[in-house]
Amino acid sequence: MNGGARRPLRFLVTAGPTREAIDPVRYLSNRSSGKMGYALAAAAKRYGTVVLVSGPTALKAPPGVKRISIISARQMRSAALRACRGADVIIQCAAVADYAPSRPSARKIKKSGATLTLRLKRTPDILSEMARLKKPGQLLVGFAAETNDLERNALGKLRRKRLDAIVANRVGLSDVGMESDENACVLIRSDGRKSRFARTTKTRLARMLLKELLKEKFR
Ligand code: C5P
Repeated sequence: MNGGARRPLRFLVTAGPTREAIDPVRYLSNRSSGKMGYALAAAAKRYGTVVLVSGPTALKAPPGVKRISIISARQMRSAALRACRGADVIIQCAAVADYAPSRPSARKIKKSGATLTLRLKRTPDILSEMARLKKPGQLLVGFAAETNDLERNALGKLRRKRLDAIVANRVGLSDVGMESDENACVLIRSDGRKSRFARTTKTRLARMLLKELLKEKFR
């Protein structure tokens, strides 16, 4: 743990997708498997204590990690904002839905016409809220999953959301990123410095990312 020299760090990691109810049996979600976030939680355990706020996934909680299971973006917001207060390092890896049905139906929607229009509303941006609540010394890290203009889009998010660092990874390819066991990414810091990580398993990538992030902040 921590080379023995420092106090154990407290981590908050979020992972997985969220599900936004359309009616009692249907939801909107995305293809996040949670694997990257769970790998980060497992890697973080070597440096201290870990709270993992997780959307629905098929994964087992890594040993020693305290998992809080949520379903919707709203639930993720309340669990994550509560847990972020005491955290030294916050890694928001979850694929939080950007929009949710504005008025989920209390009853199962029946089919009728040839088309059906769903009205959606923006979900709260949890990461931006965490940035507003951020305490001195806290390290706030986001993820950016992009199909195009990877680094430019990620840098925009880092600035807009006022993060210390963002992990950018390409999605929409069949063999890396969401659902895959492997990933490749670029870590971009708030001062614009970049570290590139070639394709490898999410377990290895998580360890390398944490090593890089922690050597920066808690030297
Ligand atoms: O803007 P975009 O959703 O692509 O940004 C991705 C980052 O923002 C991820 O770290 C994700 O967990 C976080 N996010 C959030 N709340 C949202 C949407 C995304 O915290 N409602």
